[in-house]
Amino acid sequence: MFQHVEAYPGDPILSLNEAFGKDTRPGKINVSIGIYFDDNGKIPMLPSVRAAEHKVVNDAGARPYLPMEGAANFRSAVQQLLFGTDSAAVKEGRVVTMQTVGSSGGLKIGGDFIKRYFPQSVMLVSDPTWDNHRAVFEGCGMTVKTYPYYDSATGGLKFEAMLEALKAADKHSIVLLHACCHNPTGVDLSKEQWQALVPVIKERELIPFMDLAYQGYGDGIDEDAFAIRLFAEQGLSFFVANSFSKSMSLYGERCGALSVVCPDAAQAVNVLGQMKATIRRNYSNPPIHGGQLVAQVLSDATLRPMWEAEVKEMRERIQLMRRKLHDVLSAKVPGRDFSYFLTQRGMFSYTGLSAEQCDRLREEFGLYLVRSGRMCIAGLNSGNVEAAANAIAAVLK
Ligand code: PMP
Repeated sequence: MFQHVEAYPGDPILSLNEAFGKDTRPGKINVSIGIYFDDNGKIPMLPSVRAAEHKVVNDAGARPYLPMEGAANFRSAVQQLLFGTDSAAVKEGRVVTMQTVGSSGGLKIGGDFIKRYFPQSVMLVSDPTWDNHRAVFEGCGMTVKTYPYYDSATGGLKFEAMLEALKAADKHSIVLLHACCHNPTGVDLSKEQWQALVPVIKERELIPFMDLAYQGYGDGIDEDAFAIRLFAEQGLSFFVANSFSKSMSLYGERCGALSVVCPDAAQAVNVLGQMKATIRRNYSNPPIHGGQLVAQVLSDATLRPMWEAEVKEMRERIQLMRRKLHDVLSAKVPGRDFSYFLTQRGMFSYTGLSAEQCDRLREEFGLYLVRSGRMCIAGLNSGNVEAAANAIAAVLK
């Protein structure tokens, strides 16, 4: 019956993570998977989220289905977090937000909606991007192409080439943009570069699809929403998928949202209606618990500042690890420029290490990074960063 079902090769990152679990060497270091670990190498349970959970569990009642679009308190808290407390677009009723099953769920719902209402539109993603972007959007039946992004010669951005590609894109092309902390490279647009994109998007009538999976890990919670707020102020129509997996360390609760900024409130009503229909035929409605933790943290006068301080601590720990890597490597491998560790932001850095060098790091030193050379800086801590830097220096010599 199932002879024609081919073997699943597995997800390269998750497979690496499994191999790490089986490795018995005591000094092994995991910088492959995109998870934030604290300085003790543990996934944190944020005190603000724990306090919210006590409250949510104490107050818990019956468990009816949520509406297809999710809980109202979660949805409005997300709008304020993304667009700011004073957003004209939100006040004008032009923004619709749906609670989704992780931001992966938001990408999928958005992709299904786009396939239905913009059937000819091609999805343009950065070269490179998070592997699952291609998988999800192709899974929605879309054609996925790339625009130039990462410059391996500088460890920075090919902004001019990116702009040229977008100027040549077909009308209503969907442009997937990482709002901050680009995965996998850590290379972000500057404020001026975001501003320079706006006239091109308007002129070519492109539809941005922003992915905000690491809010607060770059420059700050509000700072990392800069591009989203800019696009909204500039009157663009666009999609945003955002995640609480990293910012609240709620990976397994699958908390995310999809927002759509529309030209006017009447169109927003219809977009919300069709999004509900899209959700209904995918998974009917989202789960309650995780979303209530998020809503509680975001709206509680005590928990909100607590969470902001926790995010700051995570961000600063990552920055410290970047600095340590940079300093040890610069000392050990003179003549080579490691400044990209300092300019790239968020959890990931593209190290420029080859697949063979990554294999050596794994086999000889127990340092696990993705074969593309992507490193999750949040897997480093004060106890292992020096060993990681020494191992990298060894394969670079
Ligand atoms: N987008 C990007 C760029 C990501 O890195 C990730 C998580 N690795 C996601 C989306 C999905 O996150 P979630 O856990 O919210 O589904």
